[in-house]
Amino acid sequence: MRIVLLGAPGSGKGTQSQRLVERHGIPQVSTGDLLRAAVKAGTPLGVHAKAIMDAGKLVDDATMLGIIRERLGEADARQGFILDGFPRTLAQAAGLEQLLQALGTPLDAVVLMEVDYDKLVKRISGRRSCTNCGRVFNIHTAPPPPEGCCAAPQLVQRPDDKEETVAKRLKVYDEQTKPLVEHYAALGLLRMIDADAGVDEVTNRLEASLVPRGSEGIDVVESVQG
Ligand code: AMP
Repeated sequence: MRIVLLGAPGSGKGTQSQRLVERHGIPQVSTGDLLRAAVKAGTPLGVHAKAIMDAGKLVDDATMLGIIRERLGEADARQGFILDGFPRTLAQAAGLEQLLQALGTPLDAVVLMEVDYDKLVKRISGRRSCTNCGRVFNIHTAPPPPEGCCAAPQLVQRPDDKEETVAKRLKVYDEQTKPLVEHYAALGLLRMIDADAGVDEVTNRLEASLVPRGSEGIDVVESVQG
């Protein structure tokens, strides 16, 4: 299964990707996580990306395509992958198509996770991650357990989740990423789910949206014939 999770910052792409990883045994490829790891390691890519990320802007397409080409070339991505946070521009989508065409492994589906603007702001402002165990929580909707998430919890807010940067990120999404919805609809790959629900319910909706088209109708056809 090769899929893209599309949606604004805070729509739950990361959380749902992790669910799909557990259920389907294919890797999550989060370009945000890859960039944050580079920032933490202080690599040239991290140094280049940090100021751009902190400002809520997008890292340039050529850099992002280079990262994706390398990551999708790794062995674990051969069985499939969940792209989380990529592509974010039409140029990235075109580059991804070229890359997957060359590999002979086209996308199966692109799922748009829809959440209202006001709820997105609340979700993002409540997001906290633990620098010790890496788990992500939300102080409003999914708080860490009272006993703590790990032996030495260190909950921090991402620099780009601060209120002043969130508005900028949502604007960038509207201007640069939303056009992908039409693009993937035209290619017949788009599925849409209402992602404004509890984590389990959204996972159910996501799984239902991934059922290959046509197979839902098989029972009906059989019962008519039978
Ligand atoms: P995310 O964790 O997906 O919200 O990404 C955090 C930040 O990393 C974004 O606000 C961008 O600055 C950068 N980033 C992640 N993915 C991409 C991408 N596909 N294209 C450009 N910038 C990206």
